[in-house]
Amino acid sequence: MERENAWKKYDAKALEELESLSLRYRKFLDNGKTERECADYAVELAKKNGYTSLEDAVKAGEKLAPGAKLWASPMGKTIMLFIIGRQPLENGMNIIGAHIDSPRIDVKQNPLYEDGDLAYLDTHYYGGIKKYQWVTLPLAIHGVVVRKDGTKVNIVIGENDNDPVLCISDLLIHLSQEQMQKKASEVIGGEDLNLIIGGKPVKDTDEKEAVKANVMGILKDKYGIEEEDFLSAELEIVPAGRAREMGLDRSMILGYGHDDRVCAFAELEAIFNVEGVPEKTVCCLFADKEEIGSVGATGMQAHYFENAFAELMNLTGDYCDLKLRRGLAASKMLSCDVSAGFDPNFASAFEKKNAAFLGRGVCFNKYTGSRGKGGSNDANAEYMAEVRKIMDDAGVSFQTAELGRVDLGGGGTIAYICALYCMNVIDSGVAVLSMHAPWEIISKADLYEAMRGYHAFLVNA
Ligand code: MN
Ligand code: MN
Repeated sequence: MERENAWKKYDAKALEELESLSLRYRKFLDNGKTERECADYAVELAKKNGYTSLEDAVKAGEKLAPGAKLWASPMGKTIMLFIIGRQPLENGMNIIGAHIDSPRIDVKQNPLYEDGDLAYLDTHYYGGIKKYQWVTLPLAIHGVVVRKDGTKVNIVIGENDNDPVLCISDLLIHLSQEQMQKKASEVIGGEDLNLIIGGKPVKDTDEKEAVKANVMGILKDKYGIEEEDFLSAELEIVPAGRAREMGLDRSMILGYGHDDRVCAFAELEAIFNVEGVPEKTVCCLFADKEEIGSVGATGMQAHYFENAFAELMNLTGDYCDLKLRRGLAASKMLSCDVSAGFDPNFASAFEKKNAAFLGRGVCFNKYTGSRGKGGSNDANAEYMAEVRKIMDDAGVSFQTAELGRVDLGGGGTIAYICALYCMNVIDSGVAVLSMHAPWEIISKADLYEAMRGYHAFLVNA
């Protein structure tokens, strides 16, 4: 069954909403190129929307009543927003969860060196990337350096028009006869992703590595950091520049990190649009580390969500372990993550009846996984029926898809992790072209329908 393109149904008012949402989304992308930046930006927006700190409420032992709006940001890399509902938490929450880490290139702990009169930072890439896509592009560095005394320096280099940018070089075509014979996975090796950061030596010195010494001097002057401080830094190399409207009709957005910040932003707007006191407690969640398996203290496999759920039960005066377990199992979730958009340039990678098309609305994946659904969260038919009804009742354009042709590849999300609580979870997101490339493509219509779909789910599930 073919789904209609969502653009066809919009009246002037809908188009105006869609465009203003898209503009706010581009701002979110431009201000959030790392998980930390996304979390900080989301907290600021939450505060403006009347959310108060869950951590403060816990410290004060504050009693929470229905309608209370809270934010928490464990380790500054994850986000949870809650609106306490009328029903007790034992009845479960309606949860929309995305991830805010994106594929990128991380700076190594011992990165700085000089070679051929150029200074470099050595790197280790993060998440699944086609390494050859990341050379010969203007790149920026975002992140933090934490000095031994605990003081933290925030770093963003390459985003302002006056900033310098950085770059990884590629071999000139004239000398590439051997390189061009290599497999795409080997054209640029992992250890070839070396970022050029300088080319000017300090003068009047016996220093052997005078170019390196010069850039270190700049880092010392500008940021007060020593070479050894790289040991306790998290520096992420990302494409430099802003998200742009794309297409002569401006129907799309070309940006870095749509996976999965487009779902994260749709979630934020959806929960901000919840009016009054919801029937059930609603939750918007951003996890970190999805691109490397949801591991670590900020990945979805860590217990921050469960802990926050327990704290909320406690502050609403209703905590016991059994009720917590019941509440988790009774919860319903949309695991909001991007899906592969059908790409006519690579049509054979898809099975067209079960592919997501740009512009046809928010996409539901009953299952993801690979090689016979391996590793997927296969949502229940009963739950899919419920979600379909919510979308149809709210007039949300949606489509269903698999992640490409059977046995071609695959992937996963955070869905299966939350399903461990025995709650119903289904994958739902926005179709993307060139997923995991430095610049990815989405349709504004799909962003808009995702926001509308997530809102309908929060208030009606
Ligand atoms: Mn993703
Ligand atoms: Mn991904």
